[in-house]
Amino acid sequence: MKKRILFLMSDTGGGHRAAAEAIDEAIHYLYPDRYDTIIEDLWKEHTPWPVNRIPDAYPWMAGPGVPMWKLMWAISTTMQPLPHKFVFPGVSPVLRRRIVRYFQQTNPDLIVSVHPLMNHLGVRLRDKAGLSTVPFMTVVTDMVSVHPTWICPDVTLCTVPTNPARDLAIHWGMRPEQVVVTGQPVALKFSRISADKVELKRQLGLDPDRKAVLIVGGGEGMGPVFKIARAIAQTASQAQLMVVAGRNRQLKTQLDAVDWEIPTKIFGFVKNMPELMGAADILVTKAGPGTISEAFIARLPLILYGYIPGQETGNVTYVQERNAGILAEDPQEIGQLVRDWLGDYAPLLQQMTRNAASLARPQAVLDIARHMHDLIEAN
Ligand code: UDP
Repeated sequence: MKKRILFLMSDTGGGHRAAAEAIDEAIHYLYPDRYDTIIEDLWKEHTPWPVNRIPDAYPWMAGPGVPMWKLMWAISTTMQPLPHKFVFPGVSPVLRRRIVRYFQQTNPDLIVSVHPLMNHLGVRLRDKAGLSTVPFMTVVTDMVSVHPTWICPDVTLCTVPTNPARDLAIHWGMRPEQVVVTGQPVALKFSRISADKVELKRQLGLDPDRKAVLIVGGGEGMGPVFKIARAIAQTASQAQLMVVAGRNRQLKTQLDAVDWEIPTKIFGFVKNMPELMGAADILVTKAGPGTISEAFIARLPLILYGYIPGQETGNVTYVQERNAGILAEDPQEIGQLVRDWLGDYAPLLQQMTRNAASLARPQAVLDIARHMHDLIEAN
Protein backbone atom coordinates (compact mmCIF):
# COMPACT_ATOMS: atom_id res chain seq x y z
CA MET A 1 0.00 0.00 0.00
CA LYS A 2 1.17 3.53 -0.77
CA LYS A 3 2.44 5.62 2.13
CA ARG A 4 1.06 9.11 2.59
CA ILE A 5 2.96 12.39 2.91
CA LEU A 6 1.22 15.54 4.11
CA PHE A 7 2.80 18.90 3.24
CA LEU A 8 1.81 21.84 5.45
CA MET A 9 2.12 25.26 3.83
CA SER A 10 0.35 28.55 3.31
CA ASP A 11 0.19 30.80 0.27
CA THR A 12 2.08 33.78 1.66
CA GLY A 13 3.98 34.79 -1.47
CA GLY A 14 4.64 32.18 -4.14
CA GLY A 15 7.67 30.51 -2.59
CA HIS A 16 6.12 28.10 -0.08
CA ARG A 17 3.81 26.44 -2.59
CA ALA A 18 6.58 26.36 -5.20
CA ALA A 19 8.83 24.58 -2.67
CA ALA A 20 6.13 22.05 -1.73
CA GLU A 21 5.37 21.33 -5.38
CA ALA A 22 9.05 20.96 -6.21
CA ILE A 23 9.57 18.40 -3.40
CA ASP A 24 6.34 16.66 -4.33
CA GLU A 25 7.57 16.23 -7.90
CA ALA A 26 10.98 15.00 -6.72
CA ILE A 27 9.55 12.32 -4.41
CA HIS A 28 7.37 10.91 -7.23
CA TYR A 29 10.34 11.11 -9.61
CA LEU A 30 12.67 9.17 -7.29
CA TYR A 31 10.09 6.74 -5.91
CA PRO A 32 7.37 6.25 -8.52
CA ASP A 33 4.04 4.84 -7.20
CA ARG A 34 5.35 4.65 -3.64
CA TYR A 35 3.68 7.70 -2.13
CA ASP A 36 0.39 9.58 -2.02
CA THR A 37 1.01 13.24 -1.35
CA ILE A 38 -1.23 16.06 -0.17
CA ILE A 39 -0.24 19.74 -0.23
CA GLU A 40 -2.44 21.57 2.25
CA ASP A 41 -2.79 25.28 2.93
CA LEU A 42 -3.55 24.62 6.59
CA TRP A 43 -4.26 28.27 7.22
CA LYS A 44 -6.70 29.04 4.42
CA GLU A 45 -8.47 25.67 4.35
CA HIS A 46 -8.78 24.91 8.05
CA THR A 47 -9.23 28.18 9.90
CA PRO A 48 -12.46 30.18 10.02
CA TRP A 49 -13.00 33.64 8.57
CA PRO A 50 -11.40 36.17 9.17
CA VAL A 51 -8.33 34.20 10.35
CA ASN A 52 -8.21 32.42 6.97
CA ARG A 53 -7.79 35.77 5.21
CA ILE A 54 -4.59 36.71 7.08
CA PRO A 55 -2.24 35.33 4.37
CA ASP A 56 -3.92 37.73 1.89
CA ALA A 57 -2.29 40.59 3.82
CA TYR A 58 1.17 39.36 2.78
CA PRO A 59 1.54 41.61 -0.32
CA TRP A 60 0.49 44.58 1.82
CA MET A 61 2.97 43.61 4.55
CA ALA A 62 5.71 43.42 1.95
CA GLY A 63 4.74 46.82 0.49
CA PRO A 64 3.09 49.69 2.38
CA GLY A 65 3.12 47.67 5.61
CA VAL A 66 6.92 47.28 5.68
CA PRO A 67 7.48 49.52 8.76
CA MET A 68 4.99 47.41 10.72
CA TRP A 69 6.58 44.21 9.43
CA LYS A 70 10.02 45.46 10.50
CA LEU A 71 8.74 46.16 14.00
CA MET A 72 7.07 42.76 14.25
CA TRP A 73 10.26 41.08 13.03
CA ALA A 74 12.37 42.96 15.59
CA ILE A 75 10.04 42.11 18.47
CA SER A 76 9.59 38.50 17.45
CA THR A 77 13.32 37.84 17.21
CA THR A 78 14.50 39.67 20.33
CA MET A 79 11.80 39.36 23.02
CA GLN A 80 12.37 36.68 25.66
CA PRO A 81 10.70 34.29 25.89
CA LEU A 82 10.13 34.36 22.13
CA PRO A 83 6.52 35.44 21.46
CA HIS A 84 5.65 32.51 19.18
CA LYS A 85 5.82 30.25 22.24
CA PHE A 86 2.47 31.79 23.21
CA VAL A 87 0.89 31.12 19.83
CA PHE A 88 -0.12 27.57 20.57
CA PRO A 89 -2.03 28.32 23.79
CA GLY A 90 -3.57 31.27 21.89
CA VAL A 91 -5.06 29.04 19.20
CA SER A 92 -8.74 28.53 19.90
CA PRO A 93 -9.96 25.04 20.89
CA VAL A 94 -12.34 25.01 17.86
CA LEU A 95 -9.44 25.59 15.53
CA ARG A 96 -7.29 22.99 17.22
CA ARG A 97 -10.10 20.42 17.00
CA ARG A 98 -10.54 21.09 13.28
CA ILE A 99 -6.87 20.57 12.50
CA VAL A 100 -6.58 17.54 14.80
CA ARG A 101 -9.56 15.97 13.02
CA TYR A 102 -7.95 16.72 9.66
CA PHE A 103 -4.70 15.04 10.73
CA GLN A 104 -6.62 11.99 11.95
CA GLN A 105 -8.60 11.72 8.71
CA THR A 106 -5.47 12.13 6.60
CA ASN A 107 -3.45 9.72 8.78
CA PRO A 108 -0.08 10.58 7.18
CA ASP A 109 3.14 8.55 7.40
CA LEU A 110 5.21 11.75 7.26
CA ILE A 111 4.39 15.43 7.81
CA VAL A 112 6.54 18.02 6.04
CA SER A 113 6.25 21.71 6.89
CA VAL A 114 7.49 24.27 4.37
CA HIS A 115 6.14 27.28 6.27
CA PRO A 116 7.42 29.07 9.41
CA LEU A 117 4.00 29.06 11.08
CA MET A 118 3.33 25.34 10.66
CA ASN A 119 6.07 23.88 12.84
CA HIS A 120 5.22 24.39 16.51
CA LEU A 121 1.51 24.15 15.82
CA GLY A 122 1.96 21.20 13.48
CA VAL A 123 3.97 19.16 15.98
CA ARG A 124 1.64 19.87 18.90
CA LEU A 125 -1.50 19.05 16.93
CA ARG A 126 0.09 15.93 15.44
CA ASP A 127 0.63 14.73 19.01
CA LYS A 128 -2.94 15.65 20.00
CA ALA A 129 -4.17 13.66 17.01
CA GLY A 130 -2.46 10.58 18.48
CA LEU A 131 0.15 10.56 15.72
CA SER A 132 3.24 11.34 17.80
CA THR A 133 5.20 8.50 16.20
CA VAL A 134 4.76 10.02 12.73
CA PRO A 135 8.03 11.76 11.68
CA PHE A 136 7.81 15.51 11.19
CA MET A 137 10.23 17.32 8.91
CA THR A 138 10.75 21.06 8.46
CA VAL A 139 12.05 22.31 5.12
CA VAL A 140 13.22 25.87 5.75
CA THR A 141 12.71 27.97 2.63
CA ASP A 142 14.33 31.18 3.87
CA MET A 143 17.85 31.24 2.45
CA VAL A 144 19.78 32.86 5.28
CA SER A 145 17.69 34.90 7.76
CA VAL A 146 15.83 32.08 9.49
CA HIS A 147 13.07 33.38 11.78
CA PRO A 148 12.74 31.52 15.13
CA THR A 149 9.21 30.33 14.24
CA TRP A 150 10.81 27.96 11.74
CA ILE A 151 12.69 26.29 14.55
CA CYS A 152 10.98 23.63 16.61
CA PRO A 153 13.46 21.25 18.28
CA ASP A 154 10.68 18.62 18.55
CA VAL A 155 10.75 17.95 14.80
CA THR A 156 12.54 14.84 13.54
CA LEU A 157 14.67 16.61 10.92
CA CYS A 158 15.14 20.11 9.56
CA THR A 159 16.68 20.95 6.18
CA VAL A 160 18.05 24.43 5.41
CA PRO A 161 19.28 26.06 2.19
CA THR A 162 22.70 27.38 3.29
CA ASN A 163 25.40 27.14 5.98
CA PRO A 164 24.53 30.56 7.48
CA ALA A 165 20.92 29.35 7.78
CA ARG A 166 22.14 26.23 9.63
CA ASP A 167 24.12 28.38 12.07
CA LEU A 168 21.02 30.43 12.81
CA ALA A 169 18.83 27.33 13.21
CA ILE A 170 21.27 26.03 15.82
CA HIS A 171 21.37 29.49 17.44
CA TRP A 172 17.55 29.34 17.76
CA GLY A 173 17.70 25.99 19.56
CA MET A 174 18.06 23.16 17.05
CA ARG A 175 20.53 20.37 17.85
CA PRO A 176 23.34 20.24 15.25
CA GLU A 177 22.53 16.65 14.25
CA GLN A 178 18.92 17.67 13.45
CA VAL A 179 19.87 20.25 10.81
CA VAL A 180 21.03 19.31 7.32
CA VAL A 181 22.16 21.77 4.63
CA THR A 182 20.59 20.66 1.35
CA GLY A 183 20.08 23.89 -0.60
CA GLN A 184 16.75 25.44 -1.54
CA PRO A 185 14.16 23.08 -3.05
CA VAL A 186 13.76 24.16 -6.68
CA ALA A 187 11.58 22.40 -9.28
CA LEU A 188 13.42 19.83 -11.40
CA LYS A 189 12.36 21.63 -14.58
CA PHE A 190 14.97 24.32 -13.76
CA SER A 191 17.79 21.78 -14.04
CA ARG A 192 16.47 20.76 -17.45
CA ILE A 193 16.71 24.25 -18.98
CA SER A 194 18.22 24.09 -22.44
CA ALA A 195 21.65 25.74 -22.68
CA ASP A 196 20.70 27.16 -26.08
CA LYS A 197 19.71 30.71 -25.12
CA VAL A 198 19.25 31.81 -28.72
CA GLU A 199 16.81 28.99 -29.43
CA LEU A 200 14.89 29.70 -26.21
CA LYS A 201 14.65 33.35 -27.25
CA ARG A 202 13.24 32.29 -30.61
CA GLN A 203 10.69 29.99 -28.99
CA LEU A 204 9.45 32.86 -26.82
CA GLY A 205 9.17 35.19 -29.80
CA LEU A 206 12.11 37.31 -28.62
CA ASP A 207 14.84 38.85 -30.76
CA PRO A 208 17.63 36.20 -30.79
CA ASP A 209 20.30 38.89 -31.27
CA ARG A 210 19.44 41.06 -28.27
CA LYS A 211 20.33 40.50 -24.62
CA ALA A 212 17.17 39.94 -22.59
CA VAL A 213 16.36 41.35 -19.16
CA LEU A 214 13.76 39.49 -17.11
CA ILE A 215 11.92 41.40 -14.35
CA VAL A 216 10.06 39.38 -11.69
CA GLY A 217 8.37 40.67 -8.51
CA GLY A 218 7.78 37.29 -6.81
CA GLY A 219 4.51 35.46 -7.21
CA GLU A 220 2.54 38.59 -6.31
CA GLY A 221 4.29 41.09 -8.63
CA MET A 222 5.54 43.16 -5.69
CA GLY A 223 7.62 46.35 -5.68
CA PRO A 224 8.27 49.09 -8.25
CA VAL A 225 8.24 46.68 -11.22
CA PHE A 226 6.52 49.20 -13.49
CA LYS A 227 9.00 52.03 -12.79
CA ILE A 228 11.96 49.68 -13.24
CA ALA A 229 10.66 48.37 -16.56
CA ARG A 230 10.12 51.93 -17.78
CA ALA A 231 13.60 53.03 -16.69
CA ILE A 232 15.27 50.08 -18.44
CA ALA A 233 13.27 50.66 -21.63
CA GLN A 234 14.28 54.34 -21.65
CA THR A 235 17.94 53.84 -20.70
CA ALA A 236 19.17 50.52 -22.10
CA SER A 237 18.28 50.78 -25.76
CA GLN A 238 20.32 47.67 -26.66
CA ALA A 239 18.19 45.41 -24.41
CA GLN A 240 14.87 43.63 -24.73
CA LEU A 241 12.51 43.05 -21.84
CA MET A 242 10.38 40.29 -20.33
CA VAL A 243 8.24 41.55 -17.46
CA VAL A 244 6.35 39.13 -15.20
CA ALA A 245 3.51 40.74 -13.26
CA GLY A 246 2.66 37.52 -11.37
CA ARG A 247 -0.78 37.67 -9.75
CA ASN A 248 -0.74 41.48 -9.74
CA ARG A 249 -3.49 42.21 -12.30
CA GLN A 250 -3.26 45.99 -11.89
CA LEU A 251 0.43 45.88 -12.74
CA LYS A 252 -0.24 43.72 -15.81
CA THR A 253 -2.86 46.19 -17.09
CA GLN A 254 -0.48 49.09 -16.50
CA LEU A 255 2.34 47.35 -18.36
CA ASP A 256 0.07 46.29 -21.25
CA ALA A 257 -0.95 49.91 -21.85
CA VAL A 258 2.62 51.13 -22.60
CA ASP A 259 4.04 51.68 -26.08
CA TRP A 260 7.52 50.27 -25.36
CA GLU A 261 10.75 51.80 -26.69
CA ILE A 262 12.51 48.40 -26.87
CA PRO A 263 11.10 44.93 -27.68
CA THR A 264 9.07 43.96 -24.63
CA LYS A 265 6.94 40.97 -23.62
CA ILE A 266 4.52 41.24 -20.71
CA PHE A 267 3.34 38.20 -18.78
CA GLY A 268 0.88 37.58 -15.94
CA PHE A 269 1.51 34.64 -13.63
CA VAL A 270 3.69 32.27 -15.69
CA LYS A 271 4.11 28.52 -15.43
CA ASN A 272 7.19 28.46 -17.67
CA MET A 273 9.64 30.40 -15.51
CA PRO A 274 12.52 28.01 -16.45
CA GLU A 275 12.14 28.95 -20.14
CA LEU A 276 11.97 32.65 -19.30
CA MET A 277 15.06 32.45 -17.10
CA GLY A 278 16.83 30.30 -19.68
CA ALA A 279 16.24 32.93 -22.36
CA ALA A 280 17.27 35.84 -20.11
CA ASP A 281 20.75 37.33 -19.63
CA ILE A 282 20.02 39.38 -16.49
CA LEU A 283 17.35 38.93 -13.82
CA VAL A 284 15.93 41.96 -12.03
CA THR A 285 13.97 40.77 -9.01
CA LYS A 286 13.02 41.28 -5.40
CA ALA A 287 15.20 39.14 -3.17
CA GLY A 288 12.81 36.18 -2.90
CA PRO A 289 14.67 32.97 -1.96
CA GLY A 290 12.87 30.84 -4.54
CA THR A 291 13.56 33.17 -7.44
CA ILE A 292 17.20 33.68 -6.43
CA SER A 293 17.87 29.93 -6.16
CA GLU A 294 16.20 29.35 -9.52
CA ALA A 295 18.34 32.11 -11.04
CA PHE A 296 21.52 30.39 -9.79
CA ILE A 297 20.50 27.21 -11.61
CA ALA A 298 19.66 29.25 -14.72
CA ARG A 299 23.13 30.91 -14.51
CA LEU A 300 21.58 34.37 -14.20
CA PRO A 301 23.28 37.36 -12.56
CA LEU A 302 20.94 39.40 -10.40
CA ILE A 303 19.93 42.97 -9.85
CA LEU A 304 17.96 42.93 -6.59
CA TYR A 305 15.59 45.88 -6.50
CA GLY A 306 14.37 45.29 -2.98
CA TYR A 307 13.84 42.82 -0.18
CA ILE A 308 11.40 42.19 2.60
CA PRO A 309 13.23 43.35 5.74
CA GLY A 310 13.75 40.35 8.00
CA GLN A 311 13.42 37.12 6.08
CA GLU A 312 14.99 38.45 2.87
CA THR A 313 17.71 40.69 4.34
CA GLY A 314 20.28 37.89 4.44
CA ASN A 315 19.55 36.96 0.81
CA VAL A 316 20.93 40.31 -0.34
CA THR A 317 24.15 39.85 1.64
CA TYR A 318 24.47 36.29 0.35
CA VAL A 319 24.22 37.38 -3.30
CA GLN A 320 26.42 40.47 -2.95
CA GLU A 321 29.18 38.81 -0.91
CA ARG A 322 29.49 36.11 -3.55
CA ASN A 323 29.44 38.69 -6.33
CA ALA A 324 26.51 37.06 -8.12
CA GLY A 325 24.53 40.27 -8.24
CA ILE A 326 23.96 43.66 -6.74
CA LEU A 327 21.33 45.52 -4.73
CA ALA A 328 20.03 48.64 -6.53
CA GLU A 329 16.76 50.10 -5.29
CA ASP A 330 16.47 53.14 -7.55
CA PRO A 331 14.80 52.39 -10.95
CA GLN A 332 17.03 54.94 -12.77
CA GLU A 333 20.15 53.33 -11.34
CA ILE A 334 18.88 49.92 -12.43
CA GLY A 335 18.37 51.25 -15.97
CA GLN A 336 21.96 52.53 -16.03
CA LEU A 337 23.35 49.29 -14.59
CA VAL A 338 21.61 47.27 -17.31
CA ARG A 339 22.94 49.64 -19.98
CA ASP A 340 26.49 49.37 -18.59
CA TRP A 341 26.45 45.59 -18.06
CA LEU A 342 25.29 45.10 -21.64
CA GLY A 343 27.87 47.63 -22.87
CA ASP A 344 31.26 48.59 -21.45
CA TYR A 345 30.99 46.34 -18.37
CA ALA A 346 30.33 43.11 -20.27
CA PRO A 347 33.28 41.30 -18.56
CA LEU A 348 31.74 42.08 -15.16
CA LEU A 349 28.46 40.59 -16.34
CA GLN A 350 30.27 37.46 -17.51
CA GLN A 351 32.02 37.10 -14.16
CA MET A 352 28.77 37.51 -12.26
CA THR A 353 27.09 34.96 -14.53
CA ARG A 354 29.81 32.44 -13.59
CA ASN A 355 29.52 33.30 -9.90
CA ALA A 356 25.74 32.87 -9.95
CA ALA A 357 26.12 29.48 -11.68
CA SER A 358 28.61 28.34 -9.02
CA LEU A 359 25.96 28.82 -6.30
CA ALA A 360 23.41 26.54 -7.99
CA ARG A 361 22.17 23.50 -6.05
CA PRO A 362 19.90 21.69 -8.49
CA GLN A 363 20.22 18.45 -6.48
CA ALA A 364 18.75 20.01 -3.31
CA VAL A 365 15.19 18.96 -4.01
CA LEU A 366 16.27 15.35 -4.66
CA ASP A 367 18.29 15.27 -1.43
CA ILE A 368 15.26 16.53 0.49
CA ALA A 369 13.08 13.83 -1.11
CA ARG A 370 15.66 11.18 -0.14
CA HIS A 371 15.64 12.39 3.49
CA MET A 372 11.84 12.12 3.50
CA HIS A 373 11.95 8.59 2.15
CA ASP A 374 14.57 7.61 4.73
CA LEU A 375 12.46 9.00 7.58
CA ILE A 376 9.45 6.96 6.47
CA GLU A 377 11.53 3.80 5.99
CA ALA A 378 13.17 4.19 9.39
CA ASN A 379 9.85 4.60 11.20
N1 UDP B 1 6.70 32.46 -9.90
C1 UDP B 1 6.04 31.77 -10.92
N2 UDP B 1 5.33 32.51 -11.82
C2 UDP B 1 5.25 33.85 -11.75
C3 UDP B 1 5.93 34.55 -10.72
C4 UDP B 1 6.66 33.82 -9.82
O1 UDP B 1 6.10 30.55 -11.02
O2 UDP B 1 4.59 34.41 -12.61
C5 UDP B 1 7.44 31.65 -8.92
C6 UDP B 1 8.94 31.88 -8.95
O3 UDP B 1 9.54 31.16 -10.02
C7 UDP B 1 9.32 31.38 -7.55
C8 UDP B 1 8.11 31.80 -6.72
O4 UDP B 1 7.04 32.05 -7.63
O5 UDP B 1 9.40 29.95 -7.54
C9 UDP B 1 8.38 33.07 -5.92
O6 UDP B 1 9.09 32.71 -4.79
P1 UDP B 1 10.05 33.69 -4.01
O7 UDP B 1 10.56 32.93 -2.84
O8 UDP B 1 11.07 34.23 -4.92
O9 UDP B 1 9.15 34.92 -3.58
P2 UDP B 1 7.75 35.04 -2.79
O10 UDP B 1 6.71 35.25 -3.86
O11 UDP B 1 7.54 33.76 -2.03
O12 UDP B 1 7.91 36.23 -1.91
